[in-house]
Amino acid sequence: MYNVAIVGAGPAGIFTALEIVKLRPEWKVILIEKGLRIEDRKCLLREGAKKCPTCKKCGLLCGWGGAGAFSDGKLTLTPDVGGHLTEYMEREKVEELIKYADDLYIQHGATDEVFGTDRKVFSELERQATLAELKLIYSPVRHLGTERSLSVLKSMQDYLDDKITILNNVAAKNIIVECEQVKGLVLDNGETIYAESIVIAPGREGADWLTQEFAKNKIGMVNNAVDIGVRVELPAPVFAPITEKLYESKLVYYSPTFGDEVRTFCMNPNGEVVQENYNGIATVNGHSYANIKTPNTNFALLVSKKFTEPFKEPIAYGQHIARLANMLAGGILVQRFGDLLDGRRSTPDRIKSSTIQPTLKCATPGDLSLVIPYRQMQSIIEMLYALDKIAPGTASRYTLLYGIEVKFYSARVKLTKNFETEGVKNLYTIGDGAGITRGLIQASASGVHVARAICL
Ligand SMILES: Cc1cc2nc3c(=O)[nH]c(=O)nc-3n(C[C@H](O)[C@H](O)[C@H](O)COP(=O)(O)OP(=O)(O)OC[C@H]3O[C@@H](n4cnc5c(N)ncnc54)[C@H](O)[C@@H]3O)c2cc1C
Repeated sequence: MYNVAIVGAGPAGIFTALEIVKLRPEWKVILIEKGLRIEDRKCLLREGAKKCPTCKKCGLLCGWGGAGAFSDGKLTLTPDVGGHLTEYMEREKVEELIKYADDLYIQHGATDEVFGTDRKVFSELERQATLAELKLIYSPVRHLGTERSLSVLKSMQDYLDDKITILNNVAAKNIIVECEQVKGLVLDNGETIYAESIVIAPGREGADWLTQEFAKNKIGMVNNAVDIGVRVELPAPVFAPITEKLYESKLVYYSPTFGDEVRTFCMNPNGEVVQENYNGIATVNGHSYANIKTPNTNFALLVSKKFTEPFKEPIAYGQHIARLANMLAGGILVQRFGDLLDGRRSTPDRIKSSTIQPTLKCATPGDLSLVIPYRQMQSIIEMLYALDKIAPGTASRYTLLYGIEVKFYSARVKLTKNFETEGVKNLYTIGDGAGITRGLIQASASGVHVARAICL
């Protein structure tokens, strides 16, 4: 019998554990993680495999540190980006939680360098963006870099190792609920764990599982938007005037044709494009290293679409489109912007005769117009032209577009201000899997908040 059981050792789950250990050192806490310990995690693609072996438990997404472990750890220190926490509490409270979580990252070895804090520089870039009908969001960024991100997570793991029970390589299979009160978890190794409170933090990786378990227990869900788009890769000098000042720029645009929101996401100066695998579906992402630099910069362009009644399956919609890209390309598809506009596929020869070479070597040259719906494609094209006004060269015919990038933000669970589910007492859910966050710092902050709610 535990005081608290936590499912998922991503930042949301880890920060829950760190805060409970601080507030209630005498409590018995268990953390269940379906992936491996940080030092055992492996992604064969990152280690040079030519093709993603689509592992059953994706090494990039599962294991201590969650989806962010191999990321370059960009902590976006604002409530305006990376989640919806301000919908649950006052903005000042979210700012306090972000500052608190950020300080914990520093205590465990994060660098104290933050990009994008100069208001004067920001104002000038904001002016240029406004002229191009783009909205630039103020978002200072602490950049850990992939190598340092791993050592920070290792330090947290070492710290918690002798204070709580950590189970690796075991997944939570069922949530036990009796009389509208959570009782425990059945694990996929047959074991049953009983706990007074349970925090479910399975990330986007476990969002499908969460949705199914919550539906079984009649916990309310609301549709979240589904974000579909491409990863853009271009020569680093094209975006250097912006990335050198802000590191990462969050730009929002409303496409003239459809009025849909298109935004830049996860910008990686001198970074590389990576493939990730969600339960057998290959999608694209990007990261950068603190010490290794490529000649390219990449970022996602995501088009947000919120569906109205009666459609209730935004995740399935995103998955269908990603599967279509996989079907055509056998994985990730890459196309030059010029080829897309000319209505022809990219070929290995066309890619070779370009001013930029893809950093994701396993991507297959193809035709994104066969995959991405017209609505999203048109919005992406319009956004590329808008970006070209503040970073000339963005709409170059050589710019590479990888497909597809999709964010399964899951259906959002109906939650109280303390992230307790509406309907089942002492069952909490946080992080990306609950649909309330979309980035490292807000996921971490949601963990601190839920821990305080349980402990105090
Ligand atoms: C390549 C990449 C780069 C990124 N870069 C950045 C970045 O620079 N900055 C940023 O802010 N965000 C970034 N993100 C997003 C960020 O990683 C996520 O927003 C964040 O990790 C979400 O935290 P979480 O704890 O909610 O979920 P996750 O980190 O996804 O962790 C969930 C954990 O739960 C485990 N799990 C799932 N189901 C079960 C189950 N049934 N039983 C037991 N365990 C389970 C999973 O194995 C996983 O380890 C990146 C993501 C990726 C994939």
